[in-house]
Amino acid sequence: MTPSTAFGIGAALSAGTLTGAEIGLPGSGARKNARTRSGEGGAGTYLEVRDLTVTFDGFKAVDGVDLTLIQGDLRFLIGPNGAGKTTVVDAITGLVPATGTVDKSGQPVLGLKTHKIAKMGIGRTFQTASVFEDLTVEQNLDIAAGARRGPLTLLRRRHGREDKVTEALETIGLEHLAGTKAGVLAHGQKQWLEIGMLLVQDSDVMLLDEPVAGMGAEERQATGELLQRIAADRTVVVVEHDMDFMRAFATTVTVLAAGKVLAEGTVAEIQADPKVQQVYLGTAAETEETPR
Ligand code: ADP
Ligand code: MG
Repeated sequence: MTPSTAFGIGAALSAGTLTGAEIGLPGSGARKNARTRSGEGGAGTYLEVRDLTVTFDGFKAVDGVDLTLIQGDLRFLIGPNGAGKTTVVDAITGLVPATGTVDKSGQPVLGLKTHKIAKMGIGRTFQTASVFEDLTVEQNLDIAAGARRGPLTLLRRRHGREDKVTEALETIGLEHLAGTKAGVLAHGQKQWLEIGMLLVQDSDVMLLDEPVAGMGAEERQATGELLQRIAADRTVVVVEHDMDFMRAFATTVTVLAAGKVLAEGTVAEIQADPKVQQVYLGTAAETEETPR
């Protein structure tokens, strides 16, 4: 799927003219696997956010946000500090109360407890990686997998290791560090482990809050490639500050400013948008020096 068609479908969905089922979202083999994994039928996974609003003591940190995210999209959510990016992720994952609606493939999400939302396959990472430092990489993945482990787990073991743990280790490129304590991993490797923990939990909607903050150039490149691999059969939202990273890896971009969606489109459309240049790009240099 090209970026423009991906966005075209998203735009049609957000305009309310089409539903995921009506358009028959593209179904490659990988997409079918993703559906089987998450136990959903019909079209691919999608997340529909409508009129999302979060108020802190009368201040609207998120103000009527609409987002339509489809499987296979690698959506970047950008905007200046305080735009409400993290609060959008917090609201979708149940960490802060919000009004409006959030549906995952037609199932209502808003108002559910955080663990229920995680069980629906909506996972997120935090700006500071939260892994168990005293446990090995493999033990971290094992614990995360346990969150959704069923009675058939023993049948799915390979080399004494659960299949999905093996797969996640391969995907995040940490097989050679499976027995290493997470506490001694490099900063970037901890972020990859956290993404691996979402993979073994079968999260097919992933909301990643500034995953490359503090990474060097090589780690950024590796992370971008990892995000593209996992986004192929999932719905991935990357909250980001870094414009170069966004340009290199985004399929589509939503720009948030003062709690509202300012613009949405392909990287080229966003870069050409005068509103974005004024509100976001004009302040980018300043915000990059003061990451939250
Ligand atoms: P971003 O991630 O885009 O930098 P945030 O979502 O963290 O922005 O914050 C959006 C706005 O909401 C900011 O003005 C911030 O100060 C405010 N805010 C965030 N969390 C809280 C909270 N728990 N209580 C009060 N205000 C908050
Ligand atoms: Mg933030």
